[in-house]
Amino acid sequence: MDSTVGAPQGVIPARLLHGQKALVTGANSGIGKATAIALGRAGADVVVNYVAGREAAEEVAAEIASFGVRSAAYEADVSQEDQVVAMTDRMVQEFGTVDILVANAGLQRDASFTEMTLAQWQKVIDVNLTGQFLCAREATKEFRRRGVVPEVSRSAGKIICMSSVHQVIPWAGHVNYASSKGGVQMMMQTLAQELAPERIRVNAVAPGAIKTPINRSAWETPEAQKDLLRLIPYDRVGEPDDIAHAVVALASDLMDYVVGTTLYVDGGMTLFPGFATGG
Ligand code: NAD
Repeated sequence: MDSTVGAPQGVIPARLLHGQKALVTGANSGIGKATAIALGRAGADVVVNYVAGREAAEEVAAEIASFGVRSAAYEADVSQEDQVVAMTDRMVQEFGTVDILVANAGLQRDASFTEMTLAQWQKVIDVNLTGQFLCAREATKEFRRRGVVPEVSRSAGKIICMSSVHQVIPWAGHVNYASSKGGVQMMMQTLAQELAPERIRVNAVAPGAIKTPINRSAWETPEAQKDLLRLIPYDRVGEPDDIAHAVVALASDLMDYVVGTTLYVDGGMTLFPGFATGG
């Protein structure tokens, strides 16, 4: 098997999300960047949120605008309520509404359990879990205000939570991160249950190991990559486009009946690969 093969390219239908307005948090790097670009390719107008690195965010917005859709970079820390409220209000003013929220922003602050400081614990929970709560809450208020516009989409709005295989795989040395993603899973399901009667679809994507700056040490060297591939039955490390394509599909009306689901995009990492040879 050739493990240098990457994500499939050139497969996004250009008008799939035509007329929809998408907000992607943490969109100037890694998965968020690829997702924002893929949503733009699918015809959506896209707000590229960032907390640091304005230039990179503006480059992403410029690339998206080159597809003939609208895009802009908005600065906001997703863990700060006032900033999330201001960002959503600005998007409604400047873009008219929000149809798709991709709550992607996230980070790691790794430490063994007794070495972990309260600040490390709190930061990860604040950004990865509370940040998604705040963005989802503000987007939902806008979905509710606008309601279903049938020419645009069958649903009043879509929320896609960026989770992780670590919503179900325990991860020693990362108790803050695994707890935040476990929380994302239950938050997503609860919101899906609560909001489905209003035709608001809430789902999650759970990436496996994807080549981005967040986990560079896990794939940067050939030795690290070999170790990592032992955990991936499909025998290639994932790329940001693998996740971006899944988000585009979930956000589209092709998936209109998918509600409260986690789509694992992990090359089989959650299939207990250690048992492949007997267990
Ligand atoms: P990344 O570090 O490249 O991107 C994370 C983005 O979040 C960056 O743009 C960063 O600036 C932004 N961010 C961090 N704190 C923020 C805040 N307070 N407000 C706004 N933005 C903030 O990493 P990535 O791999 O692209 O991660 C994206 C998401 O995917 C995260 O939620 C991560 O947990 C998840 N994920 C990644 C992997 C992987 O293997 N890379 C696997 C599973 C889940």
